[in-house]
This record gives sequence, C-alpha cells and structure tokens, in this order.
Amino acid sequence: MKGLMMNYQLTLPTIMRRAEMLHSKKEVITRLPDKSLHRYTYGECITRTKKLSVALQQLGVKAGDRVATFCWNHYQHLEIYFGVPAFGAVLHTLNLRLSAEDLEYIVNHAADKVIIVDQVLLPLFDKFKDKIKVKHVIVIPNAGQPVPEGMLNYEELLAAGDEKKYVPFEGDENTAAAMCYTSGTTGKPKGVLYSHRSIVLHSMVSAYAEGLSLLESDVVLPVVPMFHVNAWGLPFTSTMLGCTIIFPGPYLDPPSLLELFENEKVTVTAGVPTIWLGILNVLDAAPGKYNLSALRCMVVGGSAAPAAVIKSFQERHGLSILHAWGMTETSPIGSLGILTGEIQKEDKEVQYAYRAKQGRPASFVEIRARSESGLIPWDGKTMGELEVRGPWIASAYYNSEEEADKFTADGWFRTGDIVTIDSRAYIEIKDRSKDVIKSGGEWISSVALESALIGHPAVAEAAVFAIPHEKWVERPMACVVLKEGKTTTQDELNSFLAPHFAKFSLPDAYAFVKEIPKTSVGKFKKSVLREQYGGSA
Ligand code: ADP
Repeated sequence: MKGLMMNYQLTLPTIMRRAEMLHSKKEVITRLPDKSLHRYTYGECITRTKKLSVALQQLGVKAGDRVATFCWNHYQHLEIYFGVPAFGAVLHTLNLRLSAEDLEYIVNHAADKVIIVDQVLLPLFDKFKDKIKVKHVIVIPNAGQPVPEGMLNYEELLAAGDEKKYVPFEGDENTAAAMCYTSGTTGKPKGVLYSHRSIVLHSMVSAYAEGLSLLESDVVLPVVPMFHVNAWGLPFTSTMLGCTIIFPGPYLDPPSLLELFENEKVTVTAGVPTIWLGILNVLDAAPGKYNLSALRCMVVGGSAAPAAVIKSFQERHGLSILHAWGMTETSPIGSLGILTGEIQKEDKEVQYAYRAKQGRPASFVEIRARSESGLIPWDGKTMGELEVRGPWIASAYYNSEEEADKFTADGWFRTGDIVTIDSRAYIEIKDRSKDVIKSGGEWISSVALESALIGHPAVAEAAVFAIPHEKWVERPMACVVLKEGKTTTQDELNSFLAPHFAKFSLPDAYAFVKEIPKTSVGKFKKSVLREQYGGSA
C-alpha cells in the first residue's frame, strides 16, 4: 500500500523560500578586504540571489552547467551558493590554496562554463587562467576598482537581472546542485557531486540537537572556507534556520577572528585544528583579553583534535570544542563527538578521552570497518578501514571510473581511514591507510602519537610518519615544532609518551623543525615528510 504523503522535493529553493518568509530581517555580515564590515539581511540576500540566477541564465548558463567560484567566505559567495542551484545549474567551489596545476586540472575536468573570482584573488587566478576553457570570467569587484578588460563585473551583471523573472528549480531533488573536488591529500583530486536532496538532508541533520545543535538564535561564523566541503554545510544550514551568519573574508589570523567572535557575539564557529591551535596560543598569551562568553561551540574537524587541545580550551578558557569527522565524499558530516548520557556521568578525564574520539555516526550514516580478516568487532581495539553509507555519502566520483574500487559491491563507500569502533559506537580515526605505520606485524597510529605529543608543554605541533627500516620495514619518526623559548629532547619526549604506548610504538627519531609542511586545507603533508626523511611518498 502506498503512503499518502506529499511527494515534496527537497531542493535548495525551498530553503530560499523559508529564509524569505521567516527570517528576511536576520543579518548576514562580512569582513571586506578593506577590513570594514558589510551588513545586510537575508531578505536582501535572497533578492540578489534571484537577480543572479536570472542574470546567469541571460548569459547563457543552463541547467546542469557548472559555475565555478574562486572566492573567500563572503556574502556574494552565499548568493552564488543559492543562485546557481536555484535554476538547476551546479555550484563548483574551487580551493584557492591548490597549486595552479591542480586548479587547471580541476576546472577542465569539471568543464566549468563560468568562473566567478574575487578581485583580490586575481593574481592567483592569473596563474592558471590561460589554461582553462571557461566561457565567462566574472569578477567580484573591490569597491571602486575597475574590473580587467574581457571580464564581467559581478555587481553590474547582477544589477541587470530582474528578480521578477526568477523561476525556481522545481525538478527532481536528486539533481546535482554542487560539486567539490577532494583536496588531493591522497592522489589526484576527485569530483564529488552533491544533490539538492543530499544538501537539504545534511542541513537538517547538521542542525538538530544530536548534530551541531543549531538554532535561529545562533550567530555562526564559519572559519572553514566555503571551498572546503561547502564550509561543512554551514551556509546552507544557517540560511535554512535563519542564524545570523558572519563571513570573515580573507582575514583568518587569530586576532581578526577573535575580534569578530567578541564584537559580533558569535555562538558557534567551525574550522580545522591548525586554526584553533593559533587561537589557543593567542588566548594563552593574553588570558581574559577577549570576552568570548557568547561562544558555546567550536566545531573542529578535518584532522584529529587532540585531547590536550580540547582540555586546554575547556579548562583555561571555558570554551567547548565539538569534534567531528567527515570527508568531501560525506558532505562532510559523518560523525560527531557528542557524549552519551552514560558518558556524561563518568569521570572528567574519561569524558575528555571520548571527546577526542571522532564520535558516533550522525543519524542516517551507517558505519562498519573491515580488516584483512573481514568486518571488525566493535571492541575499541581492532583496527580496520571505515566504510560508510547514507543519503549524503557519494555513490561515485564524477567522470572517474578508475576509482570504482572505492565503493563496495554492496554499495558502501570505502573511506581510506583506519579506525577502531568501540562498543558505544564511537569511531576513533587511527590513521589514513596511507599514513599508518606498519612496523613488523603491528600497526602504529601516527594520529595517536601526534595527539599525545601535543600534550607536552614544549610542543607546539607534531607530525608522525613512517621511515623505512631494514628489519621492521617501517618505524615511526616525529617532526616537532617547539613553542617559543621552550626546549626538549628525544629522550624526554619518549619518556613522556611511554606510559601511554607500547614500547615498539615510540618514535625512533625526532627532528625539531621550524614548520611542518601542510596541504591546502591545513593537514600535514606526510608524503613530503616521508620523502624528505628517506622513504617513499
Ligand atoms: P582530503 O581527502 O583531500 O584530505 P577531505 O577534507 O575530504 O580532503 O579530508 C577527509 C579526511 O580528513 C578524512 O578521510 C580523514 O582522514 C581526515 N579527517 C577529517 N576529520 C577528521 C577528524 N576529526 N579526525 C581525524 N581525521 C579527520
């Protein structure tokens, strides 16, 4: 028997309608390149979004065409987030920290028809613009500056769009709405294609209390770039709910962010661990300088958030970190480190240990993990590769048949992350399969060693990776950045680690360095470290 509920399509124009009807007076705030703040309302934002949608179609962009963005986090980017899918075209956010070579590859692979570029980013764009085949380049101008010849001015284009001519996309919710390439930490960038339905469902589950627990009253500042997995969905989720949203523009340094947190009374923010390490150092150096009493949740993901960092924020500054795990292929939220009622009754240290895990799967995300001997037990000890499935998990890569082995025959996505799962369903990421250190018959988790090392008072950053060994095949080595004015030694660090690790896991060698090479989204470039210290990438 068929149910008698409406066949209501979950599309992005439904979110636009809700914003228009329910919270058109709420604010969208942007830090501009000249550091001043631009403020307008969701009402104005949606009007401009409609104008953009009409203007792009007048330019010849059709449903299914890809429109790339090469932009920081700001209000025009939010207009594009909705204005492109609003008529069935596909938003393609480009990671502006990638190499010119990767960007050229990605734009041509995606066959983008139009690219929208921030004027402040034109010097970066110049490095690959002659090698890409787009029909139009649209520039988001800096106030008062002329746009280069041959390129269109975003503001002029938008002004020519008549919002009354706007017709929302009302097709199948499974139609592509957005696209994002993996940042290529492991291999060539691969295209992930999100649908209207996947974005709407991801927004719903992100928002709810077992997710990021967002409310209309929240003031959300995504530090995570809008080109890094759609800023973890926050622009969509905030628009759906009517949260005040704050975009930091090009200013991601700790003092600029802290100033915005304080002045705008930010309640929820999100970013990768390197951002929070920088913020922690500034807060430690000047305790009490910033009033962050409104800030109730800092979402951390992209790399592991060490227990020591979570504890330092909580105990020294009263700030709460929520650890989440995800990937480009998972939209990205896959799991969240929310404590169950049972764990909330446990000792504080146990709670910190759980908060440092990557958490339990979000609703509708199913998990399992597999080792060479089959699916692993959920015992918190056995390691295996995490597999996931769910409504916002990729089922294939865009135009990339050779990646078919990333998907199992029964329809799960193989994440490439090596994990344990415990009896309470908490996932702990031990490593990416390429980074796990295979010493003799044992696997050593580089992530566990890094998280522990950062707890040492002299250590500012630590990356652990495999170096070749004649007898054991691989052994761990650590590159350590020391805090200013601090010193330590290999022996001291290994004695510090010893109580928490089996002896064979302790690093054989240490290098004390000024900086650890990082990827475009702030992860350690372990392939570079492995090569530098005698191994293969
Ligand atoms: P890329 O694949 O190019 O690094 P992604 O942003 O998609 O770009 O990275 C996803 C990967 O980041 C995951 O597979 C995992 O290895 C790592 N990751 C994400 N969140 C966490 C986390 N909270 N803890 C540890 N690793 C994480």
